[in-house]
Amino acid sequence: MPPNILFAARPERWPIFEKPLREALARAGVKAHLSTEIAPADVDYIVYAPNSDLQDFTPYTKAKAVLNLWAGVENIVGNQTLKIPLARMVDPGLTRGMVEWVTGHVMRYHLGLDTDILNKGTDWVPRTPPLAPARHVLILGLGALGAAAAQSLINLGFAVSGWSRSPKELSGISCYHGADGLCEALSTAEIVILLLPDTPATENILNTKTLAMLPHGAFIINPGRGPLIDDDALISALDSGQIEHATLDVFRTEPLPRNHPYWRHPKVTVTPHIAAETRPTSSAEVIIENVRRGEAGEPFLHLVDRHLGY
Ligand code: NAP
Repeated sequence: MPPNILFAARPERWPIFEKPLREALARAGVKAHLSTEIAPADVDYIVYAPNSDLQDFTPYTKAKAVLNLWAGVENIVGNQTLKIPLARMVDPGLTRGMVEWVTGHVMRYHLGLDTDILNKGTDWVPRTPPLAPARHVLILGLGALGAAAAQSLINLGFAVSGWSRSPKELSGISCYHGADGLCEALSTAEIVILLLPDTPATENILNTKTLAMLPHGAFIINPGRGPLIDDDALISALDSGQIEHATLDVFRTEPLPRNHPYWRHPKVTVTPHIAAETRPTSSAEVIIENVRRGEAGEPFLHLVDRHLGY
């Protein structure tokens, strides 16, 4: 019997993903029944978005895996009804999008674009920005996205360091881990990029204490998740000048409530969680590869460690 693949995401996603998923199935030579409506007891794989209506996995008695459409899993990882493997999204298209977004915002800060674009009433004051090798950029999180962003910045010549949970050796990156490593990494970082998952261990990783460890006038770029930053601490650090500016793509509540101080803070740029979107064509390949693996009895790719939360 061909496997049954349930597509469980918001209804508007189905027309976007159906064709790429069917094409990926054909390319992989996997025969399967793919639909948004399959009796739970017949489902073999669940292609899943955490904001879908499916929140109780109990009736999916023979399902082999949940294949997440998103890179972030904080809204599903703690679901007690989920007992089967959970794979997160590692999509080359999403990764490329994140690399481009991060690189663009680093370049904005590095070059001082906001200062040097003068036709908004600013005086004619020529300045020479430093070159990339003199600029220290720190990436918190060296996973699929952090490592790719780091590589792009290394290619541009930046002095890149990174921080992760486990020790790493990555060519061209000064790698740190653990609490002591974080202090050391922060002490020289002029631009900090957050690409950590939202877990109990990473919540408020940028707080009053850690923000104070940065050089005066550092920049923050957060395309990771809102809870990584203590918002009150960041606003105080912006007000005092300890942090020069912050670009925030993600927030504790999204959309960012209209009365949130970030909207009107002169040193904050707000973007609407657009740093990197799952791309249907490339992500369909990733999902169907996991279906193929499941059917062949091979290990799934990109499995989430439920204990670590990512
Ligand atoms: P990933 O491959 O799982 O990498 C996560 C990285 O964070 C790893 O390097 C991991 O360390 C590190 N980490 C986790 N817990 C840590 C801790 N307690 N202390 C230090 N380091 C820790 O994830 P990814 O695919 O790169 O994605 C990262 C995050 O980006 C996602 O979770 C999601 O929240 C966010 N995201 C945002 C958007 C957007 O549009 N804004 C789009 C996609 C993803 P180890 O390497 O040691 O495991």
